[in-house]
Amino acid sequence: MDESSFILGVDLDGVVGDFYGAMRKIAAEWLDKPLDTLPEEVSYGLDEWNIDESGGYDRLHRFAVTQRNLFRDMQPIKDAPAVLRKLSTRGIRIRIITHRLFLKYSHKTSITQTVDWLDSYDIPYWDLCFMADKGAVGAHVYIDDAPSNVERLRAQGCRTIVFSNSTNRDLPGPRADNWLEVERLVLEALEEWRTGTVDLFEGMDVNKSV
Ligand SMILES: [Mg+2]
Repeated sequence: MDESSFILGVDLDGVVGDFYGAMRKIAAEWLDKPLDTLPEEVSYGLDEWNIDESGGYDRLHRFAVTQRNLFRDMQPIKDAPAVLRKLSTRGIRIRIITHRLFLKYSHKTSITQTVDWLDSYDIPYWDLCFMADKGAVGAHVYIDDAPSNVERLRAQGCRTIVFSNSTNRDLPGPRADNWLEVERLVLEALEEWRTGTVDLFEGMDVNKSV
């Protein structure tokens, strides 16, 4: 497999891993509140949990990763590992693109937990990119949940599927509510790419651009 392959750019938190479900349990402990007092419908930044009065998002996130092994112990989103294995078997190159290194001074912990987690659920990937500017690495189609990422990728001309959760309900499609829909949308994009029926790339074609 080489760069002439069809590349799927995959976000991890909130797309392959149940980031918000895991964070909710850790936040309940950290805030010392019953789990059911923390709403499941959260916006990006978790304002609904009133974490600012206890130190804020960055502090909770650091606790979750360094003390509760968030990146190693979170549950996968239903069907995500199995669908990624199927897409990989179809010849699609899985390129994981995550901004997990935004947590400073804990890079070894973040990377080690991430790789262990990917292995433990047998999630296939060719490339593992830790970076904020997801459009800079290139993919034929991206899947992401964070509104700012989806909007930036689309503004850059990158075909981007939004993976539904409570942080992104206002965004326009294409949208997948579950991983079976991801599979369908990605296979559609693959077929269009193979047959050349639609110009998917809008200037972002990693194979044809100079
Ligand atoms: Mg995400």
